[in-house]
Amino acid sequence: MAEQADVMELAKRRGFFFGSNEAYGGVAGFYTFGPQGAALKRNVEAAWRDQFTVKLGNDEIEAPTIMPEPVFEASGHLDGFDDMLVECAECGESHRADHLVEDAIEGIEDAEALGIEAVADLIAEHDLACPACDAALAGEPVEDFNLMFETAIGPGSGQPGYLRPETAQGIFVEFPRLKEYARGQLPFGVTQIGPAYRNEISPRRGIIRVREFTQAELEQFIDPEADEPPIDEVADVAVTLYPAPEQEADDGGYVETTIGEAVADGTIASPWVGYFLGVAQAWYERVGIDTDRFRFRQHRSGERAHYASDCWDAEAEISGNWIEIAGFAYRGDYDLSKHAEHSGDRFTVFKRYDEPKTIEAATVDPDMATLGPEFGADAGDVADALASLAKHDPAAFDADTVTVEVDGDSYTVDSDVANFSIEERTESGEHITPHVIEPSFGVGRTVYALIEHAYATDAVDGETRAYLSLVPEIAPTDVAVFPLVSDDRLVELANEIASSLRHEGVSVAYDDSGSIGRRYRRQDEIGTAFCVTVDRDGIEGDGDATVTVRERDTAEQVRVPVPSLSAELSALFDPESDRTFADLRAAYGAVETTVTTDSS
Ligand code: AMP
Repeated sequence: MAEQADVMELAKRRGFFFGSNEAYGGVAGFYTFGPQGAALKRNVEAAWRDQFTVKLGNDEIEAPTIMPEPVFEASGHLDGFDDMLVECAECGESHRADHLVEDAIEGIEDAEALGIEAVADLIAEHDLACPACDAALAGEPVEDFNLMFETAIGPGSGQPGYLRPETAQGIFVEFPRLKEYARGQLPFGVTQIGPAYRNEISPRRGIIRVREFTQAELEQFIDPEADEPPIDEVADVAVTLYPAPEQEADDGGYVETTIGEAVADGTIASPWVGYFLGVAQAWYERVGIDTDRFRFRQHRSGERAHYASDCWDAEAEISGNWIEIAGFAYRGDYDLSKHAEHSGDRFTVFKRYDEPKTIEAATVDPDMATLGPEFGADAGDVADALASLAKHDPAAFDADTVTVEVDGDSYTVDSDVANFSIEERTESGEHITPHVIEPSFGVGRTVYALIEHAYATDAVDGETRAYLSLVPEIAPTDVAVFPLVSDDRLVELANEIASSLRHEGVSVAYDDSGSIGRRYRRQDEIGTAFCVTVDRDGIEGDGDATVTVRERDTAEQVRVPVPSLSAELSALFDPESDRTFADLRAAYGAVETTVTTDSS
């Protein structure tokens, strides 16, 4: 299994990703994707878009990354998007207090759920020291630190704004308009892929915990009373689940099951969450996650946001640790209700009844000529309170007097003054606040997991090589084309092949520098599935020119006529086609080489 150090070294050397701003000393938590990494990330995003936007029939939007303060007041991020900070008095280094506790004390996996005071006590009890300078941290205050980056919008004092800590809010705040595009019909889903920013206290593990990262999120809006997911489509998808009760039990373990069974027996409480876990499992397999190092873990009750009724994380095993790479939450009507409350706009959809309904509605028409002189400036509030009471407790108006509370004070009026009555109304429907199910993927973490899961070493020609066994759909480069030696005829044909493949939309690396062995190794390390080599044997003799095609994982070669090359490569890349490299070997014969592989 790959060590994190091997992957990080390869990532830097081959241009997948590296710490940004190194010329200025670098800043923790910011990474640049190099040419290979950017191509790999784009391919992961394209595969995500294909599944979660196109195949699911959703719409994608692109909202700004800076949003004004009221958005985050409403969403709860301003008050509650905090991590626990402890600062070393000796060296000034900041640390995630809950992570220090989890790393140092056996048996504590989720220190955040314990709360600030308990974490401060544990630091003192266990004499935890600063990881940077070893000074004692006992007695240092543990504080809430808000993870949002603040900025000022416009010159002068301006309006405070924040870099969005998740892409989701850009979808929620536009709901009043987005529902119009969906013609007010539930269910509908909106996706967004873009950057999110969190001022992490201690960024770590390369691109796993960074301060700027890309999210791919889907907000699925449903009518909780009426809408069911197409669960049959994923019923047979096999999954490894780690439900909360299994995590809490002494002898708990994984549940190997299918989505259909897990939803039927209630292991996954929400069919919608189950549906998205099934879609996600199939998608992770498509992009090449190692399913033996992948699971869905349910949040335990202390971990879950208070509004989320069920929440599961997709976790990948990375360098020996289980890391959350995506979250799937049933968020209820929390987000839309909060934005409705704070903005005053309509975050509802009109749900038409099958048949119009006759409704009895209790109303009041308070006599203001009596309330005014009696309650002065409070008369309006008293009238509002009477109207609200009529809605919720019409029986209260049966007595001679009725009492309401306004800001903690009681006001009693004669029932006659309230002018209470029951009216019949015919209604054709009602305004409902949709519920939301949110699959939220971290793109960088997915990229990292795919690289680490694809990393393999073996021996070729007695020499150890490292290669990335990436699936062709996400590999940064599709094909590499080499002239074996710098002979004009070989160079010319190699260029022609590279150019015609590029015109067909294949991403091609052309390389004529160094020994052929070194060129193969370079491509192996970036996960290029096939290398095409133009050699003298292929252009001498009568008939069509031929080239060798080498497969990355086996290092085997076949000799293919140039006129068939493009069609054969397309078939190998086409997920719908079942043509394999073994078929090419059968059709054209293997090339004798001195290559020996010895997978380890
Ligand atoms: P959350 O909103 O915290 O559930 O995050 C959603 C997804 O974003 C997670 O599953 C991660 O894949 C990703 N993510 C969250 N925080 C970070 C971070 N600091 N660096 C990289 N990815 C992150």
